Amino acid sequence: MTAALFPALTNSSIETSTQGLLTAVIPPLEGEFLYQYDLREHSNLRVGDVVQVSLGRRITNAFIISINSPRDRESFADMSGRSITVKHISADALTSHAFNEEQLSFFSWVSKYYAEPLSKIIDLAVPTPSYGRHITYFSLASNWELSLQRISEAQRKALDFLVGASKPCSATEIRDACGVSGSVVATLVKKGILEKVTTLESEGQISQSDALRRSASLNTEQLTSVQLIEPAIHNSSFSTFLLHGVTGSGKTEVYLELIIEALKRGRSALIVVPEIALTPQLTDRFTARLKESVAVLHSSLKASERWKHWEDLASGKVRIAIGARSAIFAPLDNIGVIIVDEEHDSSFKQGEGIRYHARDLALVRAKLSNCPVVLGSATPSLESYQHATSGKYTYIKLSQQYHTAPPPTLEIIDLNSVKPWEMASRSISPRFLKSLAQVLQRGEQAFILFNRRGFASYLQCSACEYVIGCPHCSVTLTYHQNGNSLLCHQCNFSMVPPVVCHGCGKTAKAAEKKEPLFALRGSGTERVFDELVTLLPQARIGKLDRDTASSITDYVEILQKVRANEIDILVGTQMIAKGHDLPGVTFVGIVDCDVGLHMPDFRAAEKGFQLLTQVAGRAGRREKQGHVILQTRVPHHPSITKTTEQDYLGFAESELAIRQELGYPPFQKLLRIIISGEDRTSTLGHASTIASLASGYGEKHQVTVLGPAPAPIEKARGLWRYHILVKSPSAPILQNVMRQVKRDSSGQKKVRIAFDLDPHDML
Ligand code: ADP
Ligand code: ZN
Repeated sequence: MTAALFPALTNSSIETSTQGLLTAVIPPLEGEFLYQYDLREHSNLRVGDVVQVSLGRRITNAFIISINSPRDRESFADMSGRSITVKHISADALTSHAFNEEQLSFFSWVSKYYAEPLSKIIDLAVPTPSYGRHITYFSLASNWELSLQRISEAQRKALDFLVGASKPCSATEIRDACGVSGSVVATLVKKGILEKVTTLESEGQISQSDALRRSASLNTEQLTSVQLIEPAIHNSSFSTFLLHGVTGSGKTEVYLELIIEALKRGRSALIVVPEIALTPQLTDRFTARLKESVAVLHSSLKASERWKHWEDLASGKVRIAIGARSAIFAPLDNIGVIIVDEEHDSSFKQGEGIRYHARDLALVRAKLSNCPVVLGSATPSLESYQHATSGKYTYIKLSQQYHTAPPPTLEIIDLNSVKPWEMASRSISPRFLKSLAQVLQRGEQAFILFNRRGFASYLQCSACEYVIGCPHCSVTLTYHQNGNSLLCHQCNFSMVPPVVCHGCGKTAKAAEKKEPLFALRGSGTERVFDELVTLLPQARIGKLDRDTASSITDYVEILQKVRANEIDILVGTQMIAKGHDLPGVTFVGIVDCDVGLHMPDFRAAEKGFQLLTQVAGRAGRREKQGHVILQTRVPHHPSITKTTEQDYLGFAESELAIRQELGYPPFQKLLRIIISGEDRTSTLGHASTIASLASGYGEKHQVTVLGPAPAPIEKARGLWRYHILVKSPSAPILQNVMRQVKRDSSGQKKVRIAFDLDPHDML
């Protein structure tokens, strides 16, 4: 049987000792492929190399996952369900190194956990190789004299040249010097007379780490934290630390010490941060102290740049990698410490495709690399906090700000008690305005949070109350004054505001005599910005949201203006809450704490608390005391009261009690299955079938299946959406449900099925 499936294994070619066999994946194809290659031509191939191979008429990248022994041949044949042909790797195939064996184990783990083929994981993790920087040289093989019989005149010429040159030469150099074609050189390689040496075009030097030094100024808490974590680096032992440090407590300094410690021991360090836009700031701080090259990995890099960083890490030339979510896959070897900064941040979770969570994967990677992982946050996720209290993680607290300013004062303004006509503007109360004006008088700076962009949340007909929604999604269109457009924040559909109401047919012309046809309902950063410009005409006001900062450069530029004191007030969405350390900011005003608090998401309260605490932490980070005002209509909501009381532990404990009672994470694991399709009825039909399938499986295994129910965003991009929530205490059970549903629904084309294990987005 094996003979039939693997003809090449039994006859001529493989038998000879000069032939090697390997297994590779070729993303985006899902299977595994067998390749045969000439050991003389590719003597150094190893697992994790990427080789250019031809596939049909295309040249494509094949990633080697095993060498010389195809992984489990029988199952290999089963998987593809057809007889296998062994393809050949050609002599001049370009090769490069993409990952090491430790990483391959990591990729395999991810593949198993999320029930996706290994090929897809490699596709997700590894950037597209670019060979532009490689030059192939040829030099004399070790026993070249032994193979000199029967060589042609042209071959002799090339050989003479190389002997004379006494250094490796490129094919171009050989051709130019002796006028022979490339095939002459290739034949010499085949005959074992020459060998190929592929190198990078420029081999930059990295500065040695002699400048690594311990900061003399760690405070006692910082020092204690470092001393608690260091032994795990020294002993190469896996353990997880939750570093709960209030904003401004100096977590970054602790990270730096640990990284330095790892480097000193000849190991590497991996740092994952939530938003890529945060990286420039952090990278500067790191490079300034570490005096060693840092590879910065993020999605807005050009493909060739990504690959360059990737190669620098894979070759060991650079030992520090820092980046957003996907940096968790960085090709580091011998990792000494992994750091996840702002571990609570939901951007660590990938929202589509393979919906992995970089923080969760950090633990897996650390375990495979035998090193500690440090999860840092001022507002730890309830999952991590729970693991810390149960003893699974070591809990470390930094309770004081590094700069010893008095702690900020926090004040709630109950908007229910302010009459509309008493308000300074539509959304700013008199008390809020007064505090803000005082800050400006003192020459200090303010951050104003409104966590929704645009001008108005929606337009509503003043005659019939019809609300303008997106034609493709079940959400309202947000009015953006800048550009006078109605924009769908779900699918980006945009249109100019209509002049006729679809609800009642009334026209703008007819309406305008009394009032505009459409009333502007709800608010957004644009509107708050407008109000502040009117209220404080002398202030220099900036805005930071996805409309003003679509690129990293915009983002950095805006924050730079705050730092240079060219902006007095910065209005923005949650983008302003991210770990910025801006000394001049002493006031933080939250215009409406309630945005997002009532979302249909079991994490809504947690996310609210985190956002409010994080943004409040931007105030008074130096000598001057900070002041924070929170406007709300639900002043007794725990997310708000616990923020003002600065009581993380109190919040966590009461929220965890609710989670336990309702059977939500971290007490139960969740699998969310989203079924979407063009036809509403048949989509629901499919969803019901899947739900009963899951329940049937669940009966045996004590899983709870909720739904199908319409997703909170019932229609998106023209597709009707239903979701099913599967709960279980065990991940393997959910993985089985996932595999089962995948198998049973494969081949059906009418609906799309997305699986989200450990979901964060419940919409
Ligand atoms: P966090 O990340 O915990 O919010 P940071 O690491 O940004 O806090 O530190 C807050 C401020 O304190 C920064 O300006 C930082 O430079 C300063 N700082 C913290 N630790 C030290 C230290 N050991 N020596 C000097 N400055 C420090
Ligand atoms: Zn839409």
